[in-house]
Parts: sequence; structure tokens; C-alpha cells
Amino acid sequence: MFAEVAFPISSFQSFTYRIPRNLTNSIQVGSRVTAILGKRSVQGVIISLNTKSNYKGDMKSISSLVDDNPVLTAELWELILWISNYYVTPIGQVMKTVMPNRLSMQYSPPKNWYAKLTNALDEIDIEMLTKRAPKQYEILKEIRKTKGVCRITSLKSLSSNPLSICRILEEKGFIKLYKQTSLPDVTGFSFDPIHKEIIFNRGQVKAINKISLAINKKKYVPFLLHGVTSSGKTEIYIESVRQVIAQGRTAIILLPEISLTPQIAGRFKAVFGDTVALWHSKLTHAQRSWTWGQICKGNFHVVIGARSAIFSPLRNLGLIVMDEEQESSYQQDSPAPRYHTRDVALMRGKLEDTTVLLSSATPSLESYYNHLHKKLKYINLPKRFGKSKYPRTHVVDMLKDQNESGKFGLILSGLLLDKIEDRLKKNEQILLLQNRRGYSPIIRCYDCGDVVMCPSCQIMLTYHSSNQRLLCHLCGYSETQRHLCSSCHSTNLIYTGTGTQRVELLIQETFSDARISRIDSDSMQKSQQMTKTLKSFSEGKIQILIGTQMIAKGLDFPNTTLVGIINADLGLHLPDFRAGENVFQLIYQAAGRAGRGNKEGDVIIQTYSPDDLAIKCAASLDFKKFYHTALTERKELKYPPFSWLAKVELTGPGFDSVLCLAERIGQSLSKPYKGLDILGPTPCYLGKIRRQFRFHIIFKSIKKLDPNGSKLHSYINMNFYDYLKKYRMGNNKLSIHMDPLSLI
Ligand code: ADP
Ligand code: ZN
Ligand code: ZN
Repeated sequence: MFAEVAFPISSFQSFTYRIPRNLTNSIQVGSRVTAILGKRSVQGVIISLNTKSNYKGDMKSISSLVDDNPVLTAELWELILWISNYYVTPIGQVMKTVMPNRLSMQYSPPKNWYAKLTNALDEIDIEMLTKRAPKQYEILKEIRKTKGVCRITSLKSLSSNPLSICRILEEKGFIKLYKQTSLPDVTGFSFDPIHKEIIFNRGQVKAINKISLAINKKKYVPFLLHGVTSSGKTEIYIESVRQVIAQGRTAIILLPEISLTPQIAGRFKAVFGDTVALWHSKLTHAQRSWTWGQICKGNFHVVIGARSAIFSPLRNLGLIVMDEEQESSYQQDSPAPRYHTRDVALMRGKLEDTTVLLSSATPSLESYYNHLHKKLKYINLPKRFGKSKYPRTHVVDMLKDQNESGKFGLILSGLLLDKIEDRLKKNEQILLLQNRRGYSPIIRCYDCGDVVMCPSCQIMLTYHSSNQRLLCHLCGYSETQRHLCSSCHSTNLIYTGTGTQRVELLIQETFSDARISRIDSDSMQKSQQMTKTLKSFSEGKIQILIGTQMIAKGLDFPNTTLVGIINADLGLHLPDFRAGENVFQLIYQAAGRAGRGNKEGDVIIQTYSPDDLAIKCAASLDFKKFYHTALTERKELKYPPFSWLAKVELTGPGFDSVLCLAERIGQSLSKPYKGLDILGPTPCYLGKIRRQFRFHIIFKSIKKLDPNGSKLHSYINMNFYDYLKKYRMGNNKLSIHMDPLSLI
């Protein structure tokens, strides 16, 4: 017997080995083995088993088998091959992204106490407890809520020593205690289980029925679930997962960033308990390996996580859910493979005959277009769940506002201030979105007009008041606050523009009694902190929450009745074909945080561009108008979804050298086929990042003439497959981006 083995190296090749007799029965596709490669002993994965081999050279044998179980499934292997081919990345590099590095199965997590209800619970006995031992009653009630299996430490909020109370309950025969291995700690990523009574409305039932039909077919069926904010999409995911699990199959739930949505994880935990694995960036190597191993062994049925959760080695996959499918964090930019999770999810769905649910209130233009062209089945939930109504929106034209009031440079309009005051009085809660962190993003010399730039990047430094430093948001460079202009030595430096810290200070000064908190990547360096702050907000301990886009999505707080968007124009004027789409989605999503309960909500949108299409449509919550106009624009400009896009980026420490290389590559490209436009090479909008100058060449291939993108793909492959041999790169680097999200 022979085996093909792939190693985590930068090569597109796999290697053939002989399987020694003692291993023939235990080696499977997906098994990890060690073998000699060159002169070293290296770990690799078996990708196929064959009885014959055409290899003529001197063939080595596999040295040993690493684990008892395979660490990859055959389908996952096919997915790796597809990624390697589609994103022009060596297999070994794809494997590094897919599997935890240093996959070791040595770790075994600690054991914890659990309680299980005994079968014969007598309601009369329980009734007795309410009077005689209310604490025991409370704890028993909580254990019953969890449908029978409960981790004792999760009862800490009810008693400081829940175990001793549980011991008494055990003596009385209500519960049985036992010890079991518990999962890596997820407190930073999930609220405690959130139990809810669920009664589906008609729209939900219809949606669920459509999805179940697909699930039962056990075929690849991709959906776009387009449900307005608060239409109850999470509950639809849960019900669909329940059906898949009932069939003995498994599910993957993808979230844009797991720490931003602890509520969703909390809901899943409540329903599915410890069969849910959270796959997130804060797992240690050991926990990651352990979780991977447990998934391989079939001990988890559901995996929830950010983009890399799409690679979980679940067998018998029945469903993939992608929440907020338009989110840019689903794209991996660096290192290669530069993949988009949506495309990988659809491909995995195809390979495993799985239902795929792309879900959002504001789908990407691509997915919306794919629905119009019948590539995705469409499910629409146009109404919010229950009594909750869509919020009222008000657009404040800041220029007009200031002309009328005669006060210029104001950050908060009169209307927003009034509404905040009103909500504070009613003890309702407020979210304020300012999608820029720090205090002041522009520091300008009043005398010579110079602005303070990062020495390594082509971007201005932002002043942070918390530590009084100037910070580069691209490379992390920082310096102490300046008092002199470096060009003319004037002391007249002015700090302009607005970040979250400035908004926070202003709100503190104006509403000194209010309880205020801020969420951005400075204040939330630990994911635990994020969950804590959101929890305080959900308990009403915080009245005003200020934040960047981190607060705009997924949060469900019924007492929030006012959302203020301080500057809706941020990002609108970036020279990027997606700028309008991104702004529309952000405002629409943020607005969706208001009025989710029974109380009506208001959204105040402050803007200097009240006539801009994205802002107008987001304010009137008119997604159809926006999508149709934006699609017409994209068509005229031949941008996706009407074309396939590729970007080749060249970077290097010397401007002339990168420019020279870029031009040489530009000149030596083979003749474009009909329907291919090549733009550049040109300097990128962000011309320098981390001391590296940046150029790019953009390739646009019209879909009409290249329906599945294969022409563009062959063109890129042909021109760049062996670029290292073709061009003298020196210190310069080349990277290939298929379907890039952004061109800046
Ligand atoms: P979305 O994800 O679409 O924004 P959610 O799933 O967060 O909306 O639902 C909004 C609110 O309505 C949540 O508090 C959720 O628990 C509640 N909800 C949704 N569907 C139901 C249902 N069928 N029964 C009870 N509550 C529901
Ligand atoms: Zn100056
Ligand atoms: Zn920088």
C-alpha cells in the first residue's frame, strides 16, 4: 500500500510513501504521520491511499502514526485542495490556516462538577422547599431550567457555594451529582445560558419549514435569509440546528466576531449545552488542539466561531449558518490563503451536501444579486418579532443645524441632546455610534497647515486622551503628545476631528449624573471586558454606551430606545467601490439596535451629506432602493457582482524599487482576453504601511463573458504561478488577492 502525504510546507506538491505492514490497518485518510522529508522527520497528513504507485524513484516508508484518530476528514481535505487552487496558495500554507498549529493531543482539561435531575421529581416535595429552604429551591429551579444537565459553577450567581447546596439536594433525592471533563473556559465569549420560551410566529414557521425541507433532502441547498433586525433570526438558526442534530448530523455557526455577540453563544449554550464548542481566537494552543481532537472524535455536534470555524473537522455536516454574512471580517487578508469565508462555506456545503444559510438584515450586494439570479434561495422576514416596531429615524443636516443655531463645530446636535435627556429621564438606554476610536484623529498646525503623520505609514496620527499619546491605527506606532509643529516649530497645534474618547468626555460633561461606558478596541483589550460591559448594559447598570462599529451589530437590548449616529459620513468618501455599501449597512444595522422591545425607538442620524444615497436610504430603512441603485452603479463601472475581481499587490521598502518591479510586471502581462480590464499598476490609496510602499494591479473580468470566473483564474495562474522564477523580487513582495473586498 502507498500513501500520498501532504506536509505544511510552501509547496503545491504532495509526496508518495510506502505504508509499513504494521500500520496498514490503522492508517486512514486524514491520519497524521511522521515521515522523512529531505533529511528531516516531519509531520504530515495522509491525503489518499492507493494500491499502486507510478513513482519510479527510491521510495521511503512512513515512520510512524501520530494519533489514534484521523485529524482531517476526506471532505475537508478536498476543501483544502480547492482553497489552494482557487486562492493560488501552496497546500502546506492552507493546512497551516485550517488546522491548529502544533496540533498536540496531550492536553486534557480539568474535570468539573455537574448536576443531573433524578427521574422522579415530586412537585409536592419541590413545593415544600419553597417555604423551608428557599435557596435550595432557587438552585433546583435553575437546574430544572437547564433541562437536566447543569455545571455547578454556573450557579455561582445564586450562591457562593452552590456545590454544598447541591449536595443537600442530592441527599434529598432531587438530583445526582457527577464529575465530568469540562470544556475550555468560554466566559469571555458567552453570556451564561439564556433560557427563553419560544413560540414561533407565522413568518418564522414558514422560514423554518423551507429550511427543514432542504435539510431533509441532504443535498447542497444555499439560502439567503434576509430578515430585518430583531426578526428573530437567531431562533431560526437554533431550530434548524435542532433538526439537524435530531438526524444525527452536525452544524457550524459562523459569527463575524465571537466576542461581539456573547448573546448568541449564550442562547446556543442554553439549548444545546456542552455539545457546543466555541472556536475562538483566545483559546490556547493546548485548548485548540483538544477541541479539534474532540470534534474529530465526534464529541461536539455544533461549532460556533469566527471565520476559521468553517474548517472544523465535523463529520456528517448538515448545516452551515453564516450570521451577518456581509461582514468584512469574514475575509482573511493576511497571511495567505486570502479567502472569503462565504465562498469557502458555500464550497464546503457543496462538497458535503449541506444546507447553507447566509443570513443578514443587510446582505452583501453579491448575495442579494445571487438571490435575484436564483443562485440562492430567498427567505424574507420583513417584520420584527412580537410587538416591537421599527424605530423612527431622524436625519440631522449638521451644516444646516449649525447655520441656524450659529454655533459651529458642534459634535452633538440639539435634537440628539434633547432626546438623550428625555431617555435618561425615562430610565431608558442609549447607544451612541462614532466609528472612530481615540480622541482626535487630526492634529494640524494652525500656522503652516502641516498635519502630523505616522513616520511609517501614509496616514495621520490620532491623539488618545487616555494615555496622552499619538497613535497610528495602521501600524501601532505611538509617541508622546507633541507641543511643537515639526515643520515650523509653532506651538499652535490644534486637535480636530472626533473619536469615541472625545464623545465620551463630552457626554460626561453634559450629563454628569449618567452612567456611561465606552466600547472600542482600546477600552476592550480583553474579550472578558467586552462581555462584562455588555452584561452591565443588559442589566441597566450603564445608561449610555458609546462605541465604534463594535456596538452596531447583533446586540439585543429591549430597553435601548435611542440610537445616535454621531457622524454617519465616516468612510463615505473613501475611494473604494464598497464605501457606500459599507456605510449603508453600518447605519441600518446600528438603527436596528433601537426599539427592540415593546417601547418605541428613535434613531438620530447626524450627517453633512444628507443627500447621499447610502445615508438617505439607510435613514428611510429602504434597502430595496439602495440595493437596486447601487447595483446599477456597479454594473456601469463593471465592479462585482458584475465582474470577477483580482488584485496583485506589490510592496517593498524602497519606493523606486517597488515602482520599477510593478511596471516590469505590468509590461510583461500576457495579452488580456476579451472582457478583461487591467488597471494599473498604480500606487494604492494607502501608499505606505509599516514602511512598505504599496502598488497594485487590478484585474476585472466581466461576468457575462466569464460566467464562473475560470478565465480570470487561468489568467492569474498563468501570469503569476511562478512569479518567483520570473521576476527578481529583491526585498519586494507580491501577493495575490482573489475577490478582494477592498481596493485601498
Ligand atoms: P435578529 O437576530 O433577527 O436581529 P433576534 O433573534 O435577536 O433577532 O430576536 C429578537 C428578539 O426576539 C430576541 O430577544 C429573541 O429572543 C426574541 N424572539 C425571536 N423569536 C422569538 C420567538 N419565536 N419566541 C420568543 N421570542 C423570540
Ligand atoms: Zn507648522
Ligand atoms: Zn503607522
